[in-house]
Order: sequence, then structure tokens, then C-alpha cells
Amino acid sequence: MDSARQILRDIYGYTDFRGQQEPVIEAVMAGRDAVVLMPTGGGKSLCYQLPALMLPGTAIVVSPLIALMQDQVAALKLLGIKAAFLNSSLDPETERRVLADLRGGGLDLIYIAPERLLQERTLNFLRPIGIALIAIDEAHCVSQWGHDFRRDYLDLHVLGQHFPGVPRLALTATADARTRKEIIGRLALTDPALFVSGFDRPNIQYNVLPKSDNRRQLLHLLSRHRDQAGIVYCMSRKKVESTAAWLTEQGHPALPYHAGMAAGERAANQHRFLREDGLIMVATIAFGMGIDKPDVRFVAHLDLPKSIEAYYQETGRAGRDGEPAEAWMVYGLQDVVRLRQMVDTSEVGEARKREERARLDALLGWCEVTECRRRALLAYFGDSLAEDCGNCDVCLQPPETWDGTVAAQKLLSCVYRTGQRFGAGHVIDVLLGKETEKVFQHGHQRLTTFGIGADRSQPAWRSVIRQLVVQAYLRVDHDRYGALVLTELSRPLLRNEHRLVLRKDPEAARQRKPKLRKGTVAEQDRQLWEALRDCRKRLADDQGVPPYVIFHDAVLMQMMEYRPGSADELLAINGVGQVKLDRYGEEFLAVINEH
Ligand code: ADP
Ligand code: ZN
Repeated sequence: MDSARQILRDIYGYTDFRGQQEPVIEAVMAGRDAVVLMPTGGGKSLCYQLPALMLPGTAIVVSPLIALMQDQVAALKLLGIKAAFLNSSLDPETERRVLADLRGGGLDLIYIAPERLLQERTLNFLRPIGIALIAIDEAHCVSQWGHDFRRDYLDLHVLGQHFPGVPRLALTATADARTRKEIIGRLALTDPALFVSGFDRPNIQYNVLPKSDNRRQLLHLLSRHRDQAGIVYCMSRKKVESTAAWLTEQGHPALPYHAGMAAGERAANQHRFLREDGLIMVATIAFGMGIDKPDVRFVAHLDLPKSIEAYYQETGRAGRDGEPAEAWMVYGLQDVVRLRQMVDTSEVGEARKREERARLDALLGWCEVTECRRRALLAYFGDSLAEDCGNCDVCLQPPETWDGTVAAQKLLSCVYRTGQRFGAGHVIDVLLGKETEKVFQHGHQRLTTFGIGADRSQPAWRSVIRQLVVQAYLRVDHDRYGALVLTELSRPLLRNEHRLVLRKDPEAARQRKPKLRKGTVAEQDRQLWEALRDCRKRLADDQGVPPYVIFHDAVLMQMMEYRPGSADELLAINGVGQVKLDRYGEEFLAVINEH
């Protein structure tokens, strides 16, 4: 493995392997099939790129994402690696050249879409040229249960017959046991070595807070991420559009992305997000599959996703470069009501509904946790954590809990006395003893519960209602315009047979001040930082690639910190290899010198 380390250092400029990269590479070099499950950003690509450089012949990389092949190949070329792609986007002339290179043995890696690879003529062409290995990326696309299912992936099992003895490597970030089995079976892998890395993404900080004024809350988040790239997920297309426009007005350049936009416009926005520094993408869940932009610094959810799985996948797009990143979410009673209603009214069978309800409840419970949020997240996936993480909202600012039994009793009786016909707003008015028109209209000022909750604020009562609904002590009836109604759990609580522990919502005023964290630029370094980014952008535009393909943020950060003055010192930076030093070293050294 000495030569692998050498390549890692010389070509990629990295000092060490990450996670299970080394054992995976060893298995492939020994000719074994392998299944590699690594979280997003774990470094899957090196697992096949290094063997591709060491083994004789060309490595085939099967990828479902035609749109991304070009950037992946461009990034390899900048490292001085001989790579190309074959897909329907190539013009005939380029394609002829790629085929000629392949036949002449001049390529270390060829990226191909599955439908293209499986054509008889492609297989016939590739068979005689000497194949080093076959890497099947996004291997979970074979799963008919998942939402990324690709019909063409099912036929990939024939590769074993066409290329006997060639090691095949299946890679994915989706790791439940069922999908894993399906991958091995459907790809017909032979006694594969299995590499399962944990789900933890330690560089992502998790923050979940009750929704109050979500625009103000979002601005507060952005104050921690000035000029950084991020994704803001919203539920509806309309909200995507209005949020993107509003953010731009506020001086945070943002682009919309949703399935209702014309394909061209969508592609253009995605392209800009990848190419330009510090843009915000406001999107529905239509955006994200295979976005391997490494420097997404935050993923924000303005609306709740449907499950912990969806949440994990969406937030997984933050911080692929291993640098500090933030997963941030606000949620409120409205989200709970909307999602429950969506499940109830969806046209699927009862069994499926039960499953979806359970998933949603797991997510809601997770929102309200009072233990380390990361620990709870990992536990959901069957992973454990030895110690509290110290990098989630619960660890950083442990929520206070309180005995909410009496408050809940007041609320439930008020719901009962008003006839289980009113929504949260009116019930709270009655509790607070507010003399509104609606109160008088229904004579609610005469109820014994009128004003019995005046000791708490309106937001405090909202928090109680939300938590009661999450814990099923109270239900929202959407057939009756959002009326709150009692459930079978309400009675024991009213009779004092249950005690109820509730979480105290952090008050807006007490919310953490934006802190300067690792990965944030101090003011005196700002000029050098901007200059380094400008230099990177200029070089990237010259080459027609995204800026991070030139150097990651982490590399620029190190330049800022160590201020290398010579080529040797620059080479010592993690992420600077010989080829990039030769290409860009002078320009960056000049920028550092000037500041
Ligand atoms: P994945 O495909 O698993 O999501 P990638 O292969 O794209 O992840 O790698 C994520 C990022 O981590 C890339 O930018 C890559 O250059 C970087 N990386 C991979 N391996 C290492 C390593 N050993 N040391 C430092 N950075 C690494
Ligand atoms: Zn924690």
C-alpha cells in the first residue's frame, strides 16, 4: 500500500486516508468485489480512483447522473489524471476521440451511464481493451423500494459475465440492511467484502427550533453564514419563489429551484449554484440528488420533511468537505398538522399509512428530544455514540424541561368546554381571558376555563399545544377546519393518572448569538480571503469548472492561516498536490505575498 499512499500525497495532496478508504483499496487491489457504504462526503471516489491509477487497464465508473460526469472528469483532469466520459451529451467528434483514447489504452477512468454501458456495441468495444475494475456509483439505484430507482441499474448484473475476474465495487450512502442485500443480489456480486461506515457526520451541527417568525429566524441563521453557499428547503413551489426573491432583496443572493420551473431555467440555476461562490439555493425536495458540491455550509428546512430518513439525506448535502457545516430547521404546529393531513388523505393502503405515520412521529419526537440530538439521530439508524456530541443545539444549550401536567389539564379542559370545535388561536384566547368578538359571540367569557391560563404567554401555550399534539394527547381535526379534539390519552391526563414532562422552548431573546466558529473568517483576514477566492474564481472560469475543483475552501483557509511563502510550504498544505502546485502555485503565492 506504499504506492497508494504515495499517489494520495503526490496527486491528491492529502496526508492520510480517511475512514475505511485504505482497507477498501486493499480489497480491490486483491481482486475482490466489494460493497462500500459511506456517508455522503466520506470519500467514496478515492476508493476506486486510486486502484484505477494503480491497476493496469481502464476503470469503468457507472454513474446515473449524466449532468455531473462532466465536472467529475474535469476535476480529475486538473489533477493530471487521464479520464473521460461517455454519454448522450457528447458530440460525435468528441466521442470518436474518447473511443480512440480508450482503444489505445490511454485512459485510467471512463465514466459511463448504465444504459450506454449495457449496449451491445459498448460492451463489445470495452471487452478487449483491458478493464481494471468496475465501480458502480449510487448503487442503491437498484432498489425498487427507494426513490432513486433506475430501471437500467437492474441489468448491471450481466457485467460479471462480460468481464470475468474484474473486481466490481458498489458504492452508496444509503445504508439500511435491506438495500444492502438488494445491492449484492441484484448486481450479482461474488462474495463481496463489505465496508459499512457509521452514519455520523461529526462536522455537521444540528439545530432545530420552534418556528416563530421564520423569516427573521432565517436571517439570524444567515448572519452566521455570510457569503457562504447553502440550501434552503421549503415545502411548496410558491414558498420557494417568494423566499428566494425576498432573500435576494435582503442582500443574500438566492436562486429558486422546483419541479414546476422550465427544465432549462432549473438547470441554469443549478449550474450557477455549483459555479459561483456563496449562492443560496431555495428549493423543494426536487433539488439535491447527486449534488456533490463539497462546500455547502448550511442546509435549512423552513418546513418539516416527511421522515428522519428524508431529513438525514437532505442535510447530508452540507459539509461534504468535512469542514464545519450546519443543519438547521424550524418547525411548528402547522407543520405537524399539514404532514399528518397529507398522510391521512393520501391514496395509499392502510398499512402504508400506518408506516408513514410512524415515520412522521419518529421525526416529530426527534424534534422535541431533550438528549443529545446527534445521539438520537444515530440511534434511529441503529448506530450509537459513546459520548454526547457537543455539537448540537441540545448539547450546546440543554433545553429546560418542566412539569406540564397542570398546564396540559387546563388546556384540555378548555378544549372540552369549548366543545372541541375551535382551533389553537381561539382556545388560547379563552385561556388567556381575551375579550374578543368570537369569545363574546360564543359566550365563552362565561366558561370556568376563561382566563385560567393568564399566567402564561401566547407562545408558551402554542408550545404546549404543539407538544401535546406531537405526543398524541390532542388531535387536530382537519375535517373540521383544524379544530383541536381530545384523544383517548387525554382522559388519564385529566384525571391526574399521567405526569407530563414538557420542553421549554428557547425564547427568541435567549437564542444563541451568532458565534465565530472554526471555518468562519475573522475580519482582519477578510481581504486575503476575498483575494484568494477571486483568484480561485478567475482560474475556475478560465478552465470552465466550479471553483471548488481548483481548491476547496479548506485549502484556502489553510493558505490564509499559514501564509506559505514558497512552493515547498504550499505543497505542505493538505489538498495541494504536485500537479496543482505546478498549475496554480505561483498565482496563489503571489496573492498571499501581496497581503
Ligand atoms: P462521497 O462520494 O463519499 O460523498 P467524495 O469522494 O466526493 O465523497 O469525497 C468528499 C470530499 O472529501 C472530496 O472533496 C474529497 O476530495 C475529499 N477527500 C476524500 N478523501 C480524502 C482524504 N483522504 N483526505 C482529505 N480529503 C479527502
Ligand atoms: Zn449533541
